[in-house]
Amino acid sequence: MNFCQDCGIKGGCMQTRRDVLGKRRRYQCPKCGRRWTTYEVPEELVDKYRKMRNIAPDRQHRLQQMSKTLEKLLAEEMSCD
Ligand SMILES: [Zn+2]
Repeated sequence: MNFCQDCGIKGGCMQTRRDVLGKRRRYQCPKCGRRWTTYEVPEELVDKYRKMRNIAPDRQHRLQQMSKTLEKLLAEEMSCD
């Protein structure tokens, strides 16, 4: 989502950062100045995550950690400054 929720026009990418789970981009609306952040999580990672639901019990801890991280990313994607 790189369109301003207020104006519906395309935001300019101000910053791109590599994150553990993908790319993090900062956008700003050229009209109203609204800023927001998006995450691009690679498809294969989401796929891996889904497969991890069936992993052995000794790796459940890791699954929980990854689950938390993904939830956090998705929450942040929806939020704005
Ligand atoms: Zn705007």
